[in-house]
Amino acid sequence: MFVLRIFSGLTGSAALVLATAFLTPIEAQAACGSDALGTARTISVDPNGPASFKGAESALGLRDKEVILTFDDGPVRGNTPRILNTLADECVKATFFAVGRMAKANPRIAKRIVAQGHTLAHHTHTHDRLPNFKSARAGSRIDAGIAAVETAAYGVTTARTRIPFFRYPYLARNRSTDRLVRDRGLVSFGANIDARDWEPVSSDRVHNRIMNQLRREGRGIILMHDIQSRTARMLPRLLRSLKREGYRVVHMVPKGSAPRRRIEQPLVVAELETKTPAAKRKPLTLASAATAILNSPAPNVASKGHAPTARFRLRRSQWIIN
Ligand SMILES: [Zn+2]
Repeated sequence: MFVLRIFSGLTGSAALVLATAFLTPIEAQAACGSDALGTARTISVDPNGPASFKGAESALGLRDKEVILTFDDGPVRGNTPRILNTLADECVKATFFAVGRMAKANPRIAKRIVAQGHTLAHHTHTHDRLPNFKSARAGSRIDAGIAAVETAAYGVTTARTRIPFFRYPYLARNRSTDRLVRDRGLVSFGANIDARDWEPVSSDRVHNRIMNQLRREGRGIILMHDIQSRTARMLPRLLRSLKREGYRVVHMVPKGSAPRRRIEQPLVVAELETKTPAAKRKPLTLASAATAILNSPAPNVASKGHAPTARFRLRRSQWIIN
């Protein structure tokens, strides 16, 4: 009651989101009403177990008609909060694979993802196609993304990644990038149900595509994009369809504390030194090196591929640290 009184000035989803963030899972479920889809259970993924999952593997432990909801490429104003409202209305927990630069531009939304109890995972710093880079640079894009997401969400980043979950942009990987991901103690996630919601199709089409794949697969990881308005629009209908057809949502969290990341500090510093006149160079701590990398100008990102990367061309003023 105390919590609810604090938020009594708010209405609808906003009040529910804030209130349920402070309730125990059982209390939160009760606050959603009996008709809500709800989160059926939580599975803990061991960072020391299999290095990657697509969704149907027995090692992941999904049972028949169980799904994990995932959203990539945000957080972004508008669509991500709308999606968070829908998830709160249905008492559903999801995983967000956030792009570092987007989290840095929208730290309040990153914090809200965490406050609402979702899993905030990683997707590189600027939605990088990692196999295009040499190993050192690919590693620094992963590290910079984690640092930006953690700084936005928690105010601090450490060598021990809080959520050691990762998804490759464009799902593009090779043996070398797999080694980089594994060296950092990260588990990578693909998807066996792909909404392809970046295609210019109607939200109904995206909904039907997901449900049709799900009926064939029976269980799995659903890949969506929280930067897409058609996804934000169709999500209420999707969650109602999952409920009606007897699917259950499973929340995915890391098991125990994550292994320590191996961060290639000298490589990060070397990258900075190429941009700094020798006379102005100062010794860099890991934290200051990461911050400086995040403050550097945004490289252009190719606008073709499986996601609309043009969205990542933020105005420079949006992504300078305030
Ligand atoms: Zn992506």
